[in-house]
Amino acid sequence: MASVTLKDLTKEFKEVIAVNKVNLDIKDKEFLVLVGPSGCGKTTALRMIAGLEEATGGEILIGDRVVNDVSPKDRDIAMVFQNYALYPHMSVYDNMSFGLRLKRTPTSGVWPFNSKRTFTKTEIDQRVKDAAQLLGLEKLLQRKPKQLSGGQRQRVALGRAIVREPKVFLMDEPLSNLDAKLRVQTRAELKKLHRRLGITTVYVTHDQVEAMTMGDRIVVMNHGDVQQVDTPLTLYNKPANMFVAGFIGSPAMNFLPVMIATEGDKIVADGGAFKVELPPEQAGRAQAYIGKECIFGIRPEDIYDKNLEGLVKPAPGNTVKVGVDVMEPLGDDVEMHLTVGTETLIAKLDSKTQAKVGDTMEVLFDMSRSHLFDKETELALY
Ligand code: ATP
Repeated sequence: MASVTLKDLTKEFKEVIAVNKVNLDIKDKEFLVLVGPSGCGKTTALRMIAGLEEATGGEILIGDRVVNDVSPKDRDIAMVFQNYALYPHMSVYDNMSFGLRLKRTPTSGVWPFNSKRTFTKTEIDQRVKDAAQLLGLEKLLQRKPKQLSGGQRQRVALGRAIVREPKVFLMDEPLSNLDAKLRVQTRAELKKLHRRLGITTVYVTHDQVEAMTMGDRIVVMNHGDVQQVDTPLTLYNKPANMFVAGFIGSPAMNFLPVMIATEGDKIVADGGAFKVELPPEQAGRAQAYIGKECIFGIRPEDIYDKNLEGLVKPAPGNTVKVGVDVMEPLGDDVEMHLTVGTETLIAKLDSKTQAKVGDTMEVLFDMSRSHLFDKETELALY
């Protein structure tokens, strides 16, 4: 087992800075997820840890050892890719044992990563059987990949990595070839597996739900920069900036331009077509912005129908008049597209709402869960 440390890790491709001075301390046994939109640099960062891409700056440490100049096969890592490419003519058993059966040669490429030693037939057999048991593949060992479902093939790919008993697992969108239901199942299986094996794992995905459900901690990246590193709930509750606030959570947080002003002893966010009162515990942070423009943030799930009894009590300071533009029933909830002045909002209301398209209605903002951002820097004030 090992920690992974990135110090000012950088990758420049001619004009593009794919990864920009990334600093991360990935703890031993941690499940760390790198998430961000397409092109944010997450795969490049993972490939540098694997040694498949050379860093143009900074250091990578696995445990205490700087591995920048260590070849991939000697880094004691195993990688699971989105495209897991099993050998079609080999059985599951042979696919899983292949890396261990290969003799190390000085010119060998990527596989096997951890091949300083050779393994006896009995050792290989034991490792494959242990991994097969862990992954529920015991009865499938003699089958060929084409006789397996997508989920089973994915497990074989994982098994192939597990038998190597690496110090670190590196996974690049390993579930993206699976259908939605299987993804959810395999996600849970991967987490359980991680709990049992306790192998430090770095997992890349563009899917924020996958990141939220799997990561002990999540690194949100954009344009090669780390935006925030935190636990899933902290990212959701206390996003550091507008990018993280908009990226984590679905549907995304609503952003509304407001002017910060005083009204008596209260501080309000005035959006022109609406005005809300900042709760006392947050008003202090907005003091310096009185008379200035800010961006007010509220998540769809923190907006309530005033006519339904909810968690939030109606008050002049949190009630907003909106127009109902579109309604999308989802079962328990209904996703409402609302208009307020020239702005649009998305709210997730209880499906008991009596509102109809074309109505004007009043909604309540749970102000204790609202956010405020500096318009220029886009950093969160709270
Ligand atoms: P995706 O989710 O689409 O795979 P990503 O976040 O993993 O995206 P990377 O593949 O790491 O992003 O790419 C980061 C940036 O580096 C992108 O702008 C990409 O175009 C650029 N890039 C990646 N590989 C190369 C390369 N070999 N040569 C030039 N530019 C590259």
